[in-house]
Amino acid sequence: HAKHQGRNRAEMFTTELALEAADRAELERDLLLGLQREEFLLEFQPQIEIGSGRVIGAEALIRWAHPERELVMPGSFVSIAEESGAIVALGDWVMGRVCETAARWSQAGVRQRIAINISSRELGQADFFMRLRHAIDAHRAPAIMLELEITESLAMEMKAGTLDQIRALRRDGVRIAIDDFGTGYSNLSRLRELPVDRVKIDRSLVRDIAVSAEARTICSAVVGLIQGLGMEVVVEGVETEAQMEMLRVIGCTLFQGYHLARPMGEEDYLARFAAPAPLARQRSV
Ligand code: C2E
Ligand code: MG
Ligand code: MG
Ligand code: MG
Repeated sequence: HAKHQGRNRAEMFTTELALEAADRAELERDLLLGLQREEFLLEFQPQIEIGSGRVIGAEALIRWAHPERELVMPGSFVSIAEESGAIVALGDWVMGRVCETAARWSQAGVRQRIAINISSRELGQADFFMRLRHAIDAHRAPAIMLELEITESLAMEMKAGTLDQIRALRRDGVRIAIDDFGTGYSNLSRLRELPVDRVKIDRSLVRDIAVSAEARTICSAVVGLIQGLGMEVVVEGVETEAQMEMLRVIGCTLFQGYHLARPMGEEDYLARFAAPAPLARQRSV
């Protein structure tokens, strides 16, 4: 845009903004229709334990096969869905699909957890936990195969009633993870008290660790803090071998990132990451 000077540039900027607004409005309109037309799909990205090489689970990530666009990524529609309220229907669809998938995998002997992303607007719904339990029951999904990802900022704001529901889910075997850790502001004494099993370190904390001693210091301190609180660390967004090497030195063992595998459709995922394992292995989740 630097080429466009003065008025010309300003005009172009407004046009772009207007286009963007129109685009958002169109996506917002299409969201519910898209749900009815079954245009959404889930991709799965593996989480891998380095050392054993074991695939410990998958994160389910939503995509929209919009009829008039390239595959639309959640970054372009999840916030729109949150603003319009469509996120509730969308979230129900995700929960249903994940529970259905977990039940099917379990039947096939694929004992891998599937993580679901929960947005703030969803968790704010009074009947969220009822709807989740309904999805679990309706599909006979083993609770032990499910994981909820709640962002750091959302986790910090959870009220007593929500925390009670989270505790109950955990007792049933659902695992709770804090997502995008390092992007919000954590109250560290509160973090200690949260009923969570694991913390996913955001990729922004990992990006520069191979080239910056300061980035390494921060990452290492955060990992030490979480582990010191007795929680598992999963590192997100690992893109290079150099990052991976650093993270191992720091003491991380659980990884998710393009360096290991990109998110992919279920069929590819099962072919690559759910090869029949010895029986003893299938028991561990
Ligand atoms: P997230 O939960 O933090 O998910 C991880 C995102 O990082 C995914 O983007 C994943 O594809 C991407 N990623 C994984 N490894 C790498 C890597 O090595 N490098 C880079 N640059 N990126 C990597 P995606 O699928 O576009 O999802 C973006 C966000 O949208 C998610 O962030 C999550 O907040 C939200 N989201 C995705 N699916 C759902 C869903 O079903 N429900 C809700 N409420 N939100 C969702
Ligand atoms: Mg996530
Ligand atoms: Mg994340
Ligand atoms: Mg994120």
